[in-house]
Amino acid sequence: MRFFRYLSMCFLIAAVPSAFLVAAPQNDADSEEQTSRKPSATLEPGQAEAATTSGQEAVPTPPTHLKWSHPEVEFRGIWIPIPKKDRGVSTQTLRKQIEAFAKANFNAVLPVTYVRGYASYPDSKYLPQLPEVRGLDPLGFIIEEAHRNGLEVHAWLEFGFYAYHTPDATKDKSMGPWLDAHPELLSVNADGERYIHNPAWGDFYSMCPANPRSHEFLANLAVEIVERYPVEGINLDRIRFAGAKFCYCDYCKEHFKKDTGKELVPFAKGSVYEKLFTEWKRRQLVRAVRTIRERVKAVKPNVALTSYVVPPDEKDDKAQPWDLWARERLLDGIAVSMYGRHISESARKAVTILDRDKDLLIAAISCDVPTYVANIEKARSYAPMGQITWYSGEVMDDLEALAQGPYAKPARSPFARNAETTSSVSVPSR
Ligand SMILES: [Zn+2]
Repeated sequence: MRFFRYLSMCFLIAAVPSAFLVAAPQNDADSEEQTSRKPSATLEPGQAEAATTSGQEAVPTPPTHLKWSHPEVEFRGIWIPIPKKDRGVSTQTLRKQIEAFAKANFNAVLPVTYVRGYASYPDSKYLPQLPEVRGLDPLGFIIEEAHRNGLEVHAWLEFGFYAYHTPDATKDKSMGPWLDAHPELLSVNADGERYIHNPAWGDFYSMCPANPRSHEFLANLAVEIVERYPVEGINLDRIRFAGAKFCYCDYCKEHFKKDTGKELVPFAKGSVYEKLFTEWKRRQLVRAVRTIRERVKAVKPNVALTSYVVPPDEKDDKAQPWDLWARERLLDGIAVSMYGRHISESARKAVTILDRDKDLLIAAISCDVPTYVANIEKARSYAPMGQITWYSGEVMDDLEALAQGPYAKPARSPFARNAETTSSVSVPSR
């Protein structure tokens, strides 16, 4: 049934670009990992495990055959994309969802706060509010409901360096509010292309991930959120380059040459200069997260800083240095994408990459695969810090299985030791 639900979601996305907000965010809709999430068209969900060639991947079906460990401390988060009033996600629905997450022993929600170049919350100093929720304060509402139910809130900056999404850039001349106002920050690729085209998802614009002004922009947003809202954490996303062919903007040309003595031109794949460029890009993203961390911690030292990151196999293509972020302890938790049906391979690679910093590993898992509930137990053996589930809109019919299985007993969030007493902090009224 889940398989058909997934298929129908795909059709919905293909047919109705406006469904993007509900279905696409954070999954790096524009990236290759999307394909790895798709259930095989030749297998029914129940057949998948039997057909696997890896003994370690075998998962008993149904998952109630598994033994569940019940860690006392474990992050159990769930991403919440923007509720859209015109799609019928009412505050009433949201309230019921949050109560249900608490009942199923999740201990954190990660609501979207920055998407498509807009803030989801009202009155940002830096961005207009997302038109779909104009006049509402979904973040304030979610915080109030989450805290009332004993859940932490980690504000999810979904779009990161991505600044805009449009179904078809040839018909929409905008690059989004931020880049329209700061076109010099636009990231372009080696061929001079100005946006990232994905046939399934549409077109994305990115700001230059190397430019310190882009770092400052994200730091400003994060600081604005922690100053105005009593959140326990900031959850970063898309802190990366759009691909191996990015970025060849004027800033990157000037500074790559200054730093390496080498002219920035398209380099041959696998060449020593391509590796030099990747390493240079990785260093810029270390600076990015350091800036964000310093700014956030200066205001709220106890706010946890985490990030969703691409799977191990995509890490270098996107120059996303999550190994360095871990080594320098710039993040308090690193949610590595393991959205596939079978998570062991990604999990093992992530553990190897993080090495002595593997204590920071959080498993980012999808409820869109039939192995979801069993994957939680599997994730525990690699990523003891916990899991974040993608995503709120699809998890409702798994809650019963969670509450009877891996989440049968409550667990404390590992970030609870950081948190100020938020239950007594009221949401600022507007
Ligand atoms: Zn650039």
